Amino acid sequence: MRYRHVIWDWNGTLLDDAWLCVEILNGLMREANLRPLTVDEYRADFAFPVVKFYERRGFDFKTHSFDKVSEQYISAYNRRRFECKLQPGTVAMLAQLREAGLEQSVLSAYHEDTLREAVEHYGLTKFFTRLSGLDNIRADGKVDRGKAHLRALKLHEAPHTVVLIGDTAHDHEVAAAIGADCLLLHHGHMHPTRLSGRGVSVVANLAEAVEWVLAERD
Ligand SMILES: [Mg+2]
Repeated sequence: MRYRHVIWDWNGTLLDDAWLCVEILNGLMREANLRPLTVDEYRADFAFPVVKFYERRGFDFKTHSFDKVSEQYISAYNRRRFECKLQPGTVAMLAQLREAGLEQSVLSAYHEDTLREAVEHYGLTKFFTRLSGLDNIRADGKVDRGKAHLRALKLHEAPHTVVLIGDTAHDHEVAAAIGADCLLLHHGHMHPTRLSGRGVSVVANLAEAVEWVLAERD
């Protein structure tokens, strides 16, 4: 089999939370007298590092603290996070890949403790051999964490057996940095036009993702 291991992104990829992120962001934007965003505008502009995205939308971090805005965002998100549903077919799809003999893990820009709680809440802990998140709430990105994740999985010498599946251009950057293949889904935080043309496969949903992973088997 070509792939032994699937590294999943969490937010947007397995968890359908873009709508909630937009609602919370719009609350913060109204407080700062900025124009709220539609979900489509968000998907057309959202990117890591998150601080740059906020600046593009008009936040001025010379007068406001980014840490404070991050804290407000995270506390609102955490209050409401379980209003989100998993993306359609998540459980069946994780089970199908497990039955096909693939190991799976999660690499997220989410705080690691919160990631652990969320994965447990949705009943998915049993599917994953490892969960890696960040140790802060700044959502800077996950390249370093990705490298450590691969070492902890003891796959750093065989990264070509790993495929990282995510929903943002940053997931592609992380995959490239750790030497893994990448598959992107456009049902999450980024509009399909921003994912295509990167030389990476893009699919619409988890059913297509499973098909893609299994078709890549030797
Ligand atoms: Mg994501």
